[in-house]
Amino acid sequence: METAEIRRRWLTYFGDNGHTVVPSSPLPFEDPNLLFVAAGMVPFVKYFVGQESAPYQRATSVQKCVRTLDIEEVGRTTRHGTFFQMNGNFSFGDYFKEGAIQLAWELVTRPQSDGGFGLPEKDLLVTIYQDDDESYRLWQRIAGLPDEKIVRLGKKDNYWHMGIPGPAGPCSEILIDRGPEFGPEGDVEKAGDRYLEFWNLVFMQEELSAVRSKADFDIRGPLPKKNIDTGMGLERMAFLLQGVDNIYEIDEVYPVIEVAADLAGKRYGANHEDDVRLRVVADHVRSALMIISDGVLPGNEGRGYVLRRLIRRAVRSMRLLGVDAPTMPELLPASRDRMKTSYPEVERDFGRISSAAYGEEEAFRRTLAAGTTILDTAVRDVKSSGRTTLGGDKAFQLHDTFGFPIDLTLEMAAEQGVDVDEVGFRQLMTAQRDRAKADARAKKTGLVDTSAYRSLADGLGRDVEFTGYDEVTSEARVS
Ligand code: ATP
Ligand code: MG
Ligand code: MG
Ligand code: MG
Repeated sequence: METAEIRRRWLTYFGDNGHTVVPSSPLPFEDPNLLFVAAGMVPFVKYFVGQESAPYQRATSVQKCVRTLDIEEVGRTTRHGTFFQMNGNFSFGDYFKEGAIQLAWELVTRPQSDGGFGLPEKDLLVTIYQDDDESYRLWQRIAGLPDEKIVRLGKKDNYWHMGIPGPAGPCSEILIDRGPEFGPEGDVEKAGDRYLEFWNLVFMQEELSAVRSKADFDIRGPLPKKNIDTGMGLERMAFLLQGVDNIYEIDEVYPVIEVAADLAGKRYGANHEDDVRLRVVADHVRSALMIISDGVLPGNEGRGYVLRRLIRRAVRSMRLLGVDAPTMPELLPASRDRMKTSYPEVERDFGRISSAAYGEEEAFRRTLAAGTTILDTAVRDVKSSGRTTLGGDKAFQLHDTFGFPIDLTLEMAAEQGVDVDEVGFRQLMTAQRDRAKADARAKKTGLVDTSAYRSLADGLGRDVEFTGYDEVTSEARVS
């Protein structure tokens, strides 16, 4: 089933069940302190906290999300994209646990011939919050799940709050057991690739009076109006329904892997490290397409820097795959052609989007060209003086002045038979980061109070991103 069809079925199903279909918010959220929308509920927070009353009792959306916190996972796990789409259904004081569980189970198990996703019931299991016996009984009754398929997890995993006093409550996740070839039986907590989580249901049922940390808080009492917030990963459902091995092999992403593999003269599936690079390329190109489409341009801080880093990582990955020539002009249109079904604007605005992406690739290629000469000279010096290690200060200079990521320096030095003093490099990085942090602290005085968002980001456990001033500074240095 195509990704666009999964999205269509989702919206039709929840629409038929009385939900208002709300279009995705743009990726850059209205608040400049949030980098990107990282969960379907973000645009609805104002209703959940009671800041505004919701214009509907039930809503559904397919929200564009970006989670840069997952960047290191990309290509290595089966399930993390920097860009992904979160399908959500929301209830504002309307249905609660029973309705949410009923609606979710029905859609997941209803036969495909009848508009559902038709996942095999025998492979499904759920997690609930440790003492949420109500959810336990509902899963038993509605889904007929036996005891061993209703797994209780603690506050860290299955209790949601915003890190500040306000609405909170237990979560329940739906997972699929992909079978013994994906890991040992049992440890659902490290769900990972065997027990794949694809849908999270949050039951906002009480109000917190104090929050000290993720797992340490006081409950004031029940909420007068209980809410539902759910998020199902569209790419994860696509991966399950398309019979492929991971989210990078779905219809919306895989064609970019094919183009990249072609350019590099590689066969996807032949070598693990190459495969990871191909998946990184496909993921990052798609993220760049969607982020630029929503109006962000490459830059040195905040959103622009995230975008810059994604494009650079894609270019660098192609280089590590052996391609030195520009590749964006081949990769980006391949991504556009897959994404335009659901997002016609990527085709309409492709002139603007592509000139930003191609320009950034060119700029990075110039960086590489400039830094490469410095690196080569330094390597020659090391060799001619009979040493085998490039100084940490050189690596730092390459990083700081030419924007050379350390792993690029390592790789390129290694190609010429030279090591790099990584410890020395890291020490210089740390010293610089400490300076940047001190600067940022000084700068913070007089800026708006963003503690609520900080808490929101920490507490959601869903990586709602906050451009902490420190983070931007330090992120800008890590690539
Ligand atoms: P995981 O434990 O796999 O990292 P999560 O618990 O962080 O996922 P939630 O915050 O609960 O994810 O988000 C709701 C749903 O969104 C998840 O169940 C998953 O289907 C999807 N999702 C979350 N992060 C990603 C991502 N980086 N790429 C693709 N889908 C994602
Ligand atoms: Mg999880
Ligand atoms: Mg989750
Ligand atoms: Mg996660």
